[in-house]
Amino acid sequence: MIVTRFAPSPTGRLHVGNIRTALHNWMWSRKWGGRFLLRLDDTDVERSTAENAEAIQTDLAWLGLSPDDAVRQSDRFALYEARFEELRGGGHVYPCYESAEELELKRKILAGRGLPPIYDRAALALSDAERAAFEAEGRRPHWRFKLDHDSSIHWDDLIRGVQHLDPKLLSDPVIRRADGSWLYMLPSVIDDIDMGVTHVVRGEDHVTNTGLQLQMFAALGAPAPAFAHEALLVGSEGKLSKRLGSLGCDAFRDEGIEPVALIALLARIGTSLPVEPVTVPETLLDSFDFARFGRAPARFDLDELKALNARILHMLPYGAVADRLPAGMDEAGWEAIRPNLSTVDEAADWWAVVVDAPDTAIADEDRAYLAQAAAIADGADWNDGIWKALTGALAAETGRKGKPLFLPLRLALTGREHGPDMNALLPLIGRERAVERLKAAAG
Ligand code: GLU
Repeated sequence: MIVTRFAPSPTGRLHVGNIRTALHNWMWSRKWGGRFLLRLDDTDVERSTAENAEAIQTDLAWLGLSPDDAVRQSDRFALYEARFEELRGGGHVYPCYESAEELELKRKILAGRGLPPIYDRAALALSDAERAAFEAEGRRPHWRFKLDHDSSIHWDDLIRGVQHLDPKLLSDPVIRRADGSWLYMLPSVIDDIDMGVTHVVRGEDHVTNTGLQLQMFAALGAPAPAFAHEALLVGSEGKLSKRLGSLGCDAFRDEGIEPVALIALLARIGTSLPVEPVTVPETLLDSFDFARFGRAPARFDLDELKALNARILHMLPYGAVADRLPAGMDEAGWEAIRPNLSTVDEAADWWAVVVDAPDTAIADEDRAYLAQAAAIADGADWNDGIWKALTGALAAETGRKGKPLFLPLRLALTGREHGPDMNALLPLIGRERAVERLKAAAG
């Protein structure tokens, strides 16, 4: 059973980068009939809010990426405490008493000598008496995980291939603050074990964390999941832009972007597969494979998304949009109008063209022509071929063709020079309204 998890920190809303991560986790589990879990990484109680947690779930629901289960880390502290005690018993964690200033000073000294800022493990060398003295001063320790310098760190990343890290070149990570609160690193591993996560899919900014976390899985006696680290998302200008970081579901909704369009784009950018318009996300599952992901950053382009959105709208069935269409607009109305839309909201505009009399300036030389049109329309058989019948009869009677034949009719009937195919639109307008509009235009 494949189990993936999306683990955002509710310190803000989802942005396009983490929507993409959520999507890939969802796709991988759905492809294999597995489980997709949401884990709110809210151990940072100061920066995490209930509103953000709620908004993340609302956004996932809008996207259609509903998790099979959702947990929050703040409900799981007892588990972390228990597993921490095991690590402590096994000598895998150790208390440290340096202040932030002392640590900063150590880093500066190393930097001054041109050395990497690796923690010197001074706290490991403290004697019981020294520790007792710190405690007597009122100092509380923060805790580090002790990396095993003798076992090499490597894994076969599903996207990046075989990865190696040298534990001697890494600092023992701080896992717990002096006030007892948890940093991200260890609870994540404890949860991945407890939740049976089989695949961790996340951004490549976590590659080093993975190296550290692999040793935590080992120390906790658990097999590690598989890892897929995806290249980050960049804007169309090729940089990590601030704008992308604030581009979330609300903004997409305001732009009239359909969730399926966002999914179709984010499923494929950065992979060797082309972006394709689809109306149902599940269509994309078969071909989804980490082996197709590239190492170069994925480029996100809002204009590409808008163009894709329009193409998808032109294919979307009535049932997918019915609850957002103007009252009275039926399936025939949707199918006639959708080829002209870039967003569903624009349907209301076009529906107004069908139901509301236009207010149009008509050239004098067209009035008699439009009176003729009114008479023909009134006497004609109204069916799906009405536009052809009407314009055919008018061409025969008046000798007009091309623009002089079509444009005055379109203007009189819709009040606009451009718009949906009149073959589809005229039956929607119907005999009564059409004749009335043509007569009004004839004056
Ligand atoms: N809360 C972490 C983040 O948002 C989760 C990373 C992970 O997937 O493990 O970066």
